[in-house]
Amino acid sequence: MSDFSLPEPRFEIPVDALAELEAELPSGTLLDPSLGVEAYSRDETEALHYEPQVVARPIATADVSAILAWASRHRVPVTPQGARTGLSGGALPVFGGVALSLERLDRIRRLDLADQIVEVEAGVVTGQLQARVREEGLYYPPDPASRDTCQIGGNIAEDAAGPHSCKYGTTRRYVLGLEAVLPDGSVIRTGGANRKDVSGYSLTQLLVGSEGTLAVVTAATLRLIGYPAARLTLGLAFESLERGAQAVLEVFESGVEPAACELLEARALELVHASSPLPEALRDARSFVLLELDGPSRELLLDSALRLARRFEPIVPLVAADERDRQRLWEIRSKIGSAVKHYSTYKEIDAVVPRSSLAALVRAARRAADAAGLECVCYGHAGDGNLHVNLLRGRLEEDEWNDRRDRAEDELIEEVLRLGGAVAGEHGIGWTQRRHLRRAFSPAALDLMVRLKKAFDPLGILNPGKVLP
Ligand SMILES: Cc1cc2nc3c(=O)[nH]c(=O)nc-3n(C[C@H](O)[C@H](O)[C@H](O)COP(=O)(O)OP(=O)(O)OC[C@H]3O[C@@H](n4cnc5c(N)ncnc54)[C@H](O)[C@@H]3O)c2cc1C
Repeated sequence: MSDFSLPEPRFEIPVDALAELEAELPSGTLLDPSLGVEAYSRDETEALHYEPQVVARPIATADVSAILAWASRHRVPVTPQGARTGLSGGALPVFGGVALSLERLDRIRRLDLADQIVEVEAGVVTGQLQARVREEGLYYPPDPASRDTCQIGGNIAEDAAGPHSCKYGTTRRYVLGLEAVLPDGSVIRTGGANRKDVSGYSLTQLLVGSEGTLAVVTAATLRLIGYPAARLTLGLAFESLERGAQAVLEVFESGVEPAACELLEARALELVHASSPLPEALRDARSFVLLELDGPSRELLLDSALRLARRFEPIVPLVAADERDRQRLWEIRSKIGSAVKHYSTYKEIDAVVPRSSLAALVRAARRAADAAGLECVCYGHAGDGNLHVNLLRGRLEEDEWNDRRDRAEDELIEEVLRLGGAVAGEHGIGWTQRRHLRRAFSPAALDLMVRLKKAFDPLGILNPGKVLP
């Protein structure tokens, strides 16, 4: 495989080069070091911490271009950052250098109701974009659970998904065009406002999911759709994990296409219950399936929901009567992330398998965790076959935890690949999942990825050390 040179483990920017950068940018672009770079040294991945030497917060594409052209001249590592909610360490400045935060490129440039498209800058917060377009009766479906903080640029870089990707697909499906800056500072525009476009290679789709390693996205043109007229949320509790996983399959077989289909296994329910009590009816459940249906009228949805509830005979069916009930049901799902975090240090494996292998994946996770003597908690986007397996550290010493975690992770990834699955469903490879790529791809495929990286970034300055093993 082609090799790829990385910067020094801890790159220091020469003082005169720093002065040159400062002179080229509008004042205030570089964060005053006295304000601290701490926040830009972390994302939401475990307890990892890597300090950049400089934090740049440009307000225009031209400034991003100037920063990258300067970085190429001086061979300084640059790490693009959105809201730093990433879960695989992609935004961590592991080699120091510049943390390039896109947070101040936060304008909605154009909302076109006739074409149902919106052009936004990279730093627009996903939830704010959703709220704005909803005012016009439009819907931007990608809904990572972090949507109140994460940014469109970060979503594009990760091809972020969420519960409603089950019916509506991931971020990729909505990106029609990009404005991006290459590592040498040149600005490119890919795609545009057209709903179809097969002119040349799709650079747009290549950049989506590239985790900030090929180019820095400064703006995007996104496709919108009409907001569904009615929604109905249904919770089904089962006496076993198998029944829950089987119900997920049967929902799709029944011809109902759920907008969202989530699964929590028993340990996940216990942890949620420990942080805020679950409804009495759910306390004996061994698995919980949360379904959301959407369509033209509530009556039709209710009919489908009742048919499903009768078909599966769950311990208890819970149908949300109104928006408050709906929120309550979704809270069971949305609280699990913080409940796990509160309980223990953890390592999350974001595995995805064909939907029919979901129960096998949960069993494999348990086996791998048991063999390593670790506790594990599973939940996730069942409709997409995407399970978040959380291995818990508990009271283990650092070395012991690292060893057991790696063993469990390796065994589980092996099984995921055997089931025809993939290493990362939605959280990316970033910094923490790289070692699994060698098992997931052939040397020829990996070599092609390295050559693509070199074509975009011959000096290796953009987000070095990420994605490629
Ligand atoms: C509580 C919680 C819930 C979550 N739920 C989900 C979920 O349901 N689904 C899901 O998919 N993810 C989820 N995530 C993960 C995370 O929120 C997503 O990966 C999100 O897309 C990251 O966006 P960000 O703006 O925080 O990007 P960051 O974390 O800052 O960066 C992520 C990656 O994108 C790159 N990047 C950022 N901006 C740009 C840019 N403008 N140009 C080029 N590269 C860039 C970075 O270099 C990095 O590699 C969750 C995270 C948390 C903490």
